[in-house]
Amino acid sequence: MRGRLPPWFKQRLADPNVMSSMHGLLDGLKLHTICQSALCPNIGRCFTAGTATFLILGDTCTRRCTFCAVKKGQPSPVDEAEPEHLLEAVKNLGLSYVVVTSVTRDDLPDGGASQFVHTVTRLRENVPGITVEVLVPDFRGSEEAIRMVVASGPQVINHNVETVSRLYAEVRPGANYDRSLELLYAVKKLDRTIVTKSGLMLGLGESREEIIEVMSDLREANCNLLTIGQYLQPSPQHHPVVRFIPPEEFVGYEATGREMGFAEVASSPLVRSSYRAAELYNKAKN
Ligand code: SF4
Repeated sequence: MRGRLPPWFKQRLADPNVMSSMHGLLDGLKLHTICQSALCPNIGRCFTAGTATFLILGDTCTRRCTFCAVKKGQPSPVDEAEPEHLLEAVKNLGLSYVVVTSVTRDDLPDGGASQFVHTVTRLRENVPGITVEVLVPDFRGSEEAIRMVVASGPQVINHNVETVSRLYAEVRPGANYDRSLELLYAVKKLDRTIVTKSGLMLGLGESREEIIEVMSDLREANCNLLTIGQYLQPSPQHHPVVRFIPPEEFVGYEATGREMGFAEVASSPLVRSSYRAAELYNKAKN
């Protein structure tokens, strides 16, 4: 299903000067953002507000998820200056809440965990009072990798399940639904004070019952926060949009999620993983 989007996706055009100064800052520091790499529909709003979700470990992913716009192939060597550059961008933008994510690096022995550790450590040591949310890959189920990331001290660890279990083989080859749940559960076992978070995209062909089942599985894994948004097809080569879910159905999932015990649920067509990230975190802490 391609072509015209439903009216609820209409957004105001971003200020080109603000966009170009953000692009200039990121390019100058050789940094990537998931906002650009994943063609996020909210990029104008976030860049205008002076915020971004940083993508570490390069811009090329070793997996081949069929919904994802991120470049796939053989990644470049890890840039050791990246944590320092990211720190510089955070200071320049005056951020007090930062979200750091990465491509999946199955080519690296630790899956990139040490780059997360360096990044979180640099931020926490150099920006007083900063809150760091990391949105991590599954590290192929490595307990050691997740232990390292937990020990580095991010306040929030996010890991998206993305879709329902039945669609994994088709949509997320290389990933495993149970392994993703286990990662979230392991974080809580290692450090109960860390807020855990996950996200789902709707419109890939899942049923309502399957969505509720994922939400229930996430609660069983002690997941605190949940984001739910509409999948948009980045190109004709990507997985098709099977259905546009109306906004009122999203509102229903938000209410159901709160009843299930999530500290907060952000659910609407334009919600993405980092949507209202600081606000969601504050809800989980109160
Ligand atoms: S692992 Fe993440 S970045 Fe890589 S293709 Fe899948 S969704 Fe995209």
